[in-house]
Amino acid sequence: MNKNVQKGIFPDWFSVSKIQKYTKKDFDKLLKDYFENKKRVYSEIKSLKKEERNFENTVLALENCDDSFDDTFHQIGVLSISHTKKEYRDLANDFEKELSKKNVDIVYDDKIYKAILEYREGNYQKEKKSLDEKYGVGSVKLFEDICKGYKRMGFDLPKTKQKELKNTIKKLSKLSIDFSKNIDEYRDFILCSREELKGLPENFIKTLEKVEGKYKITLDYPSISPFLQYAESREKRKELVDKNYKKGGVKNLKLLSEIVELRDKKAKILGYKNHLDYRVENRMSKSEKAVYLFNNSLIKKLEKESNANIQELNEFAQKELSGYGNIKKVEYFDLAYVMNKLKEKKYSYDSAKLKEYFELEHVLKETFKIFGNIFGFVVREIDAKERVEKKINLVDKNVRLYEFSDEKSKKVLAYLMFDLFPREGKYTHAGHAKYLTGINSIPVDVLLCNFPKPTKEIPSLLSLGEVETIFHELGHALHCMLSTTNYFSQTGTNCDHDFVEVPSQLMENFLFEKKYLKKLAVHYKTKKSLDEKTLNKIIEGKNFMNGYANLRQLVLGKFDLDLHSGKIKATDSAKYYITLSKKYFNSNLPKDAIFPAGFGHLMGYDAGYYSYMWALVYAYDFYSEFEKVLKNEKRLKEIGRRYRKEILEVGGSREEMESVKRFLGRKPNNKAFLKKILEK
Ligand SMILES: [Zn+2]
Repeated sequence: MNKNVQKGIFPDWFSVSKIQKYTKKDFDKLLKDYFENKKRVYSEIKSLKKEERNFENTVLALENCDDSFDDTFHQIGVLSISHTKKEYRDLANDFEKELSKKNVDIVYDDKIYKAILEYREGNYQKEKKSLDEKYGVGSVKLFEDICKGYKRMGFDLPKTKQKELKNTIKKLSKLSIDFSKNIDEYRDFILCSREELKGLPENFIKTLEKVEGKYKITLDYPSISPFLQYAESREKRKELVDKNYKKGGVKNLKLLSEIVELRDKKAKILGYKNHLDYRVENRMSKSEKAVYLFNNSLIKKLEKESNANIQELNEFAQKELSGYGNIKKVEYFDLAYVMNKLKEKKYSYDSAKLKEYFELEHVLKETFKIFGNIFGFVVREIDAKERVEKKINLVDKNVRLYEFSDEKSKKVLAYLMFDLFPREGKYTHAGHAKYLTGINSIPVDVLLCNFPKPTKEIPSLLSLGEVETIFHELGHALHCMLSTTNYFSQTGTNCDHDFVEVPSQLMENFLFEKKYLKKLAVHYKTKKSLDEKTLNKIIEGKNFMNGYANLRQLVLGKFDLDLHSGKIKATDSAKYYITLSKKYFNSNLPKDAIFPAGFGHLMGYDAGYYSYMWALVYAYDFYSEFEKVLKNEKRLKEIGRRYRKEILEVGGSREEMESVKRFLGRKPNNKAFLKKILEK
């Protein structure tokens, strides 16, 4: 159990309110205090003699240096994208920029690395065996990870090499920003007559801008996505998709080549075989070989199913869509359209009507009940009245506060702030963030969402996708909220990059279980559960085109892996993508398509795109353990408890594979994943 949960150290709500009212003066003072403290701690660490060094005065001093500031920084991070006042958001943003800029100079300190080495060669050898026992689980890993981190930053290298590395990193960072900016700023569009908009919903057409009497369709997601799904005109769909394949522009292809080359150079300076080798070292996958084995074997297994999906689309189009452009072969610009038509036919349910079954208040109540029951916690809302009594001020009246307590011990485990509705200047997607880390008090996590606001007549009604979002984000939040680690750098989502999406994707599975879906889907007026037929359609619909969709992810993963392990020349990346599309999907992309130029994931998810599928396979494997016992409440609770203990509570305090095996009681495998996709 988290030590603050054990001792009942509640969040300092007074300080939480105070931070929401920070002025420029407060932010400046915070920066000053922070750097004074940091410099003081660092110079204390540096001043010790080799023989004086121990875990406490060197490693812990370093790890805990920011502890008294971390909670404040996390709150400011969230407020910078959710505070109601623009002035505050701007101040918070400036503060964050300043903080990270100045921090670089302090953290990149040779003498601190020297201190680490002195400890490693000195007293660490004596202390190592008893560290975890004396300071808590994760202590040895903490130190080993710190050493690895310095090595990966190049501190081991001779001075000339360090300089070369620094220059390479600087260049890389500039070029990467340029690459992303070129995508963000890339603008193109097509113009359509009213006739050419045939098939599109009226309320979509109403939102379109008009240029010289024609309707403008852009490459932005809210514009291109419905257009490709609904527009009947093949010519116009092709025109738009072809433009989309030019996103980023030719200049980005050149940038990408330079970036890939620099990444390779950086990896080699640091002593790695290539960029992929460098990236996977501190991931769950560990090695280039393991990632390739994972990706290639799944590609092989899914090819047949994906071809069957495409075949089904072709047959459907030839037979039933003859009135819509006479599609003989479903081309790359037909895919979304034909898929949508087939889905409508097979699993047709009225999604507007369906929303009436997912009323926000009911969904929240049931969601907390479902997962509380499985993982062993009870959720209670701290309502407005109680918040006034306890002097808890939240940033907006539409932010809810929930208290999570342990079912058995009744101790308060964590708080969840749920920021439900959109408002001016707020983050526009859905996401979770740590608010209070759990190091200084019981943890607080926050979910930022943008659900439809209720009106006087109608409550907030959610789409199926929005309910799925709640499940997904709650998975991330619980990972942090239920963490019991000793060190912040090992808490919840601070685990290996390719493991982060496992707990969140695991949660989505529960939604498509009839037992739970039925409880969630209750009509807001009649209070009747959704009918059996529609429930079945929703559940079956989840696997629609699963072979194709997953193979696409794997092929994108392969593209990224090949690019970053030197299997293809970076200058050939555009051609290579065209070849892959032909090989796996029989797509005839235009010869001048430059997909990689607009593939934003290549910055940030570079040599890491595979992790989406990697995590998904683990999530399915985990879920298979729950699936077996869904009908047995007692066993289900046991599995839930075990999951909480072996996965959520430990976070990154031990090797992920170790946690996986402990939860599963066996080695992981891809059987559950393949079963979901291949068995109908
Ligand atoms: Zn996620």
